[in-house]
Amino acid sequence: MRRALVTGISGQDGSYLAERLLADGVEVHALHHPSEARDRPRPAYCPDEVVLHIGDLTDHKAVGGLVRELAPDEIYNLAAVSSVARSWQEPELVEAVNATAALALMDAALRAQQRTGAPVRFVQASSAEIFGQPEQSPQDEQTPVRPVNPYGAAKARAHAGIAEHRERGLHAVSAILYNHESPRRPAQFVTRKITSTVAAIARKRADRLVLGNLEARRDWGWAPDYVDALVRAARADLAQDFVVATGVAHSVRDFVSAAFARAGVDDWARYVSVDSDLVRPVDAVELRGDATLAHDVLGWTPTVGFTELVARMVDADLASS
Ligand code: GDP
Repeated sequence: MRRALVTGISGQDGSYLAERLLADGVEVHALHHPSEARDRPRPAYCPDEVVLHIGDLTDHKAVGGLVRELAPDEIYNLAAVSSVARSWQEPELVEAVNATAALALMDAALRAQQRTGAPVRFVQASSAEIFGQPEQSPQDEQTPVRPVNPYGAAKARAHAGIAEHRERGLHAVSAILYNHESPRRPAQFVTRKITSTVAAIARKRADRLVLGNLEARRDWGWAPDYVDALVRAARADLAQDFVVATGVAHSVRDFVSAAFARAGVDDWARYVSVDSDLVRPVDAVELRGDATLAHDVLGWTPTVGFTELVARMVDADLASS
């Protein structure tokens, strides 16, 4: 039986990845942060079959010991401080978790492989934020890495670590993930903030949606499709980096308009206002990915487009409100 170690199990992607791996018959182990475990012994949406190990990714020694003990066939590093907005407030934490701990986990994987002789497949959840404010759109695996915020900078260091560990013999993959969403997305991200608030407005429990930059254009996909790409990349013959994206960008304004339409609320502009405090110091105008390589090599294609994504998220929030 294949064995996988997943970090970031309490996040949206961790839960979908665990479900995906279990369905494949993989034994799934996951690192669960002690502070989260205190409040919630099992993260939301985490299937019961997942074996949880309480530990902090930044405790390199303990994590190294866990990798040695488990000797996993696959490691998926999804743990991260995932908010770009928060990365300006806590740059040291972002560096420690998103960069240094990721590099230490790669080292542990390589050491485990060297000791046992059994290959370890390592997938790093990277981000379109490594491209910063790219001059051209769409971006692909050749686009220069030039991050413009602490989150992107830390992800870029981990991305470089993947290339380095690949040179040293690890099947190491950096999956450059564009924004990917679902009803499990926390409301600190703009999509879920929009759909949860729109549902509340439709139910007459709220009357305002306050946002930052409405003109930012993002390539939003369906999260379960993106974890599927991670698994395909882990199992590919050749380790290489992949952009994972739909190739279609929409503005935040488009998302707002589609969400209100789905909820059956007319004249949405009267509910929406902009707060300049929510506008970021630097924000890419458009992040849109070209996933041709993932399509050609991994046979990966996104299954859910923009309108359907918005509909699924709004419907879930209407159903629970
Ligand atoms: P990110 O791309 O990982 O930072 O994902 P987010 O969902 O947090 O942000 C996506 C885009 O939405 C960015 O360009 C933000 O500037 C923009 N945005 C506009 N208003 C808001 C808001 O109220 N909250 C968040 N999180 N983002 C917003």
